[in-house]
Amino acid sequence: MLKETKHSFLIQYKFYILVVVLLITLVAFDSCDVFNNSSNEVSIVFAGDLLLDRGVRNRIEHLGMDSLFDSSIDSVFGKSDVVIANLECPATAIKEPINKKFIFRAEPSWLMSLKDHGITHLNMANNHSMDQGRKGLVDTNRNILDTGLTPLGYGKDTKQACQPQLIATTPRNVYVFSSLQVPSENWMFLEDKPCVCEDSFETISYKIKKLKSKEPNSVVIVQLHWGAEHTRVPLTYQKQQAYLLIDSGADGIIGHHPHTIQTVELYKQKPIYYSIGNFIFDQNKPINSKGLLVQLKVSKKDITFNQLEFIIEKCTPKILYE
Ligand SMILES: [Zn+2]
Repeated sequence: MLKETKHSFLIQYKFYILVVVLLITLVAFDSCDVFNNSSNEVSIVFAGDLLLDRGVRNRIEHLGMDSLFDSSIDSVFGKSDVVIANLECPATAIKEPINKKFIFRAEPSWLMSLKDHGITHLNMANNHSMDQGRKGLVDTNRNILDTGLTPLGYGKDTKQACQPQLIATTPRNVYVFSSLQVPSENWMFLEDKPCVCEDSFETISYKIKKLKSKEPNSVVIVQLHWGAEHTRVPLTYQKQQAYLLIDSGADGIIGHHPHTIQTVELYKQKPIYYSIGNFIFDQNKPINSKGLLVQLKVSKKDITFNQLEFIIEKCTPKILYE
């Protein structure tokens, strides 16, 4: 009798251990947390200019934020650990426009929908983040954080704004540098005040070298808001600037601002996407109505880049699979 009780206790005990192990496994596999995932590969996507004002505002007010996301985009974002887009407008209720030609503003509540559709990071190092003044810039950062998204290229001062940002740690560290390289109209750059990063190429180069000497196995991507609008090829000096960053240790360069897809070049086996074009935008000329998603897969030893071209119809990107 005693032996039988002991035996059934052992069976029960084993059963409980099995349940606990199963639960731990499920929780581990269910997690998309790039800082704790058990996967041997991290999947990162870069998308271009994302505007939530003007023609896009009109569409959102009539049809809602969900109307901007086609299932082909949802599907790619849904399979990615990190999705970075360039937020080409402040997202704030503060209306303190600075004196410039194009002034944008998005409603902060719309950010949640970006998160719901898989976006995880928003680049702020562009020439529109400050459209509603410094208060609007600070508030945009706060609203992005409050939504559970991560801003890139912004800081309480230039030192913080220009730090390389760690976006994944497994299977190895992946850092992003973000920098604005086009002039921002009527905006006073003050290095001790909240701002977006405007680091020079020499400074970025120095920082990449420093980071790579400390962490040779890390991956470094540089995101640049640069180039000439509505053109298909980069300027000659942009090539020299891109080569300098790759010579310094960058593993890839992603550009935006021209609102067009520009040349993609391999230099020392590292890709330079001079401009990936618009993502969600209201410009409807053919040159502005195509964009690229750059998909980056990082394993312990390899990095692969893949590009997906999409068309933009009624502000909405849609991937055309063959
Ligand atoms: Zn721009």
